[in-house]
Amino acid sequence: MSVPTVSTSSPTSSADALAQDAADVPGGACIGEGAGSPAPVASAAPSVAAPSLDRADADLRESLRSPGESASVHSWELVTAVDGPGTRLTFFLAGCPLRCLYCHNPDTWQMRRGERQSLDEVVSRIRRYAQVLRTTGGGVTISGGEPLLQPQFVENVFAACQEMGVHTALDTSGFLGARATNRLLSNTNLVLLDVKSGDPDTYKTVTGRSLAPTLDFGRRLAAQDIPIWVRFVVVPDLTDDEDNVEKAAEYIASLRSVQRVEVLPFHQMGRDKWRALGEDYALENTEPPSAELVARVRRQFARRGLIAF
Ligand code: SF4
Repeated sequence: MSVPTVSTSSPTSSADALAQDAADVPGGACIGEGAGSPAPVASAAPSVAAPSLDRADADLRESLRSPGESASVHSWELVTAVDGPGTRLTFFLAGCPLRCLYCHNPDTWQMRRGERQSLDEVVSRIRRYAQVLRTTGGGVTISGGEPLLQPQFVENVFAACQEMGVHTALDTSGFLGARATNRLLSNTNLVLLDVKSGDPDTYKTVTGRSLAPTLDFGRRLAAQDIPIWVRFVVVPDLTDDEDNVEKAAEYIASLRSVQRVEVLPFHQMGRDKWRALGEDYALENTEPPSAELVARVRRQFARRGLIAF
């Protein structure tokens, strides 16, 4: 997930997950949602058009053939104090079904822009860092793009991490949460869940997609007591409406395994990438939120008993 920083009953097998995708979850019926010209603005949502999803839909269809023995990897990095506790070896998988207006890594959107790497290569790299990851209380984070576009690969990497005693974190929008099998979740120690809005109309304007799959995935994680760190990005005149934040806060507070909410101020560090890619950047003239606005949003989460940073 490329958010500004300085995913009841569930499928029990990958085959089940993919079958469900094709039937009634994102990647199936949602393909084509919002495709073509930008969607009209709903009355409760901010006054910008939702993004086009044509190319994202093509990747969604392609990803249904994603193997578990290799993946399209955009990049990887070793970081501390972001993407989870301790020192993290973070892999950014290529491809994303969303088109967030504030995305600061639009270069991760398409699977074809990544480099195909084998499971063995990735696990070997993790093995080289395993000792330092364990010593610092860190681990491996799989981010994107959207890691659940290639869920079988994530499942295999996390299983290998558990065998090494390495902590695992999944950084996701939750939109493809139904693709995460129970085996994947049983090997996931933490989920960094982007709740991009509480209001469904605003969510659609921000991402081009529906909010419901993310809400369902969060409930599934909570039911399994999988720790969640929520991320919420404050974008002036887009996600900052008090009612939108209240709806997000009410939902997040209902999830018993949420440990914290990270309130992240929008920034413009991705603007050059949008330009370089020739993408139409709707937030070209949007300023970062004021400190007062960010503090107000944090207070709204705190009033629900949430620990908000
Ligand atoms: S478009 Fe994809 S990669 Fe970018 S912020 Fe949204 S979910 Fe993350």
